[in-house]
Amino acid sequence: TGIGSNGVEPSRDRLLGGLLSPEFDESSCLSRFQSALYRKGSHHLPSQHLVEKLRRYEALHKKCGPGTALYNKSIEQLKSNQSTGTMECNYLVWIPHYGIGNRVMSIVSGFLYALLNDKVLLVHVPDDMDDLLCEPFPGTTWAVPKDFPVKDFHKFDRDAPMRYGALLRDKVISNDMRSATNAALPAYVYLHLPWYNSEWDRLFYCGEAQQMVRRIPWLFFRTDEYFAPLLFLVDEYSEELQRLFPEKTTVFHHLVRYLFHPSNTVWGHVMRYYHAYLARADEIVGIQVRIFPLVPIPFETMLNQIMNCALNERILPRPLEFEEKPQSAPPRNGLKVKAVLVTNLNGSYHDRLRDMYYEYPLEARDEVVAVYQPSHEQAQHTDERGHNVKALAEMVLLSFSDVLVTTAKSTFGYVAQGLGGLRPWILLRKPEDGEPACVRAASTEACLHEPPKYDCKTGKRGVDMSAAVPFLRRCEDVADGLKLF
Ligand code: GDP
Repeated sequence: TGIGSNGVEPSRDRLLGGLLSPEFDESSCLSRFQSALYRKGSHHLPSQHLVEKLRRYEALHKKCGPGTALYNKSIEQLKSNQSTGTMECNYLVWIPHYGIGNRVMSIVSGFLYALLNDKVLLVHVPDDMDDLLCEPFPGTTWAVPKDFPVKDFHKFDRDAPMRYGALLRDKVISNDMRSATNAALPAYVYLHLPWYNSEWDRLFYCGEAQQMVRRIPWLFFRTDEYFAPLLFLVDEYSEELQRLFPEKTTVFHHLVRYLFHPSNTVWGHVMRYYHAYLARADEIVGIQVRIFPLVPIPFETMLNQIMNCALNERILPRPLEFEEKPQSAPPRNGLKVKAVLVTNLNGSYHDRLRDMYYEYPLEARDEVVAVYQPSHEQAQHTDERGHNVKALAEMVLLSFSDVLVTTAKSTFGYVAQGLGGLRPWILLRKPEDGEPACVRAASTEACLHEPPKYDCKTGKRGVDMSAAVPFLRRCEDVADGLKLF
């Protein structure tokens, strides 16, 4: 193939089994049709029903997208603050929250909600996300236009007057309004769904609320979570979701591959790095190390976790620290090169791994290990575009791994596993005595970190929904988390 043994298989289906629309021009977004050539793990085909649903969604978005007559009509309605009930076009507007990984979680979840409710998903693209992503829908845009009547998106937060949970608490609206007259409905509401919300906000996930909220033509939402698993708990959606995703553990994989195509700028970073350092390797091992500033882990503890995981799971060859014999001549059929792609805000893990594989002979005499790290940004700077370009490029590079190791509870790692269709080894954050350093994820699904503990059907609080239904499990990496199974 000319790109090395790790490179391209030209025969791979560029439209990913119909997931991607053929309507796009390739040069405007090179990654859209080229990514599949570099990913090793995407063997899942979308269902025919999902493919059809996406084409129908694209038609709806084209009909209702910014600049269309129907969009202008809806904007007039929003400006007038008059309640009309559902219109021909109804919108779900995404508001960014936290880092790129968290943003991807919330966009994917919002898109699934929009698909199920025939809403049009618009995203507020702040300057720090400018030219980060390609348009996902052909012949239209998903970006909220500059002249959008609402400017202060940051005000959609805890104290927003039109916060759904607060309106419900103050009895301005009620979920019985699913059959109310249009005039009684608000023109828009804000769905406050980050981890620091209230029980009132979380009622949004219940079936009754879904029926009421659906009738409101403009919905704004903010979250850091992957809430798709909760939509599977709503009776009304379950049959449709089953048809869309006969394999429940591929929801995140399909939707993240459908929506997220890095811009040509980001793809340039990815391609330069890949061809300079990774393309000629026989195997790529991605190791995503995330240290959360609020719950730091000592450097040596994390390094031990990484090495114990890599050695116990035979991901990397063992360096023989006490070996005195010189390395024997390389085998006649050549050495196998394992490229380790480390991502972290800091360079020290990379340096220690590189030194270790430089200084000591390896147990596997026919292997060598090369260690690389694209950037070391030191700290998270989500408000800086250049920083976000690197973060996204690294998620994409990790998605090209043959074997992926990620850090527990990091959405950065989820994006890489979802794009790549990989089942990662997850480094556990707090090793208890006798516990393994890492566990293999059951699927490529992302984890919902803080699910509501409220059972909408019985009205009981403190319920563990993973025990209540067969298709949800606890996550491997977050004790209270929920994951589709
Ligand atoms: P999470 O906090 O791990 O769930 O992931 P997020 O992506 O939501 O937030 C972390 C942010 O910190 C990223 O988006 C980056 O801005 C930055 N960051 C964390 N780890 C890395 C890394 O390994 N490489 C780069 N370039 N940025 C990182």
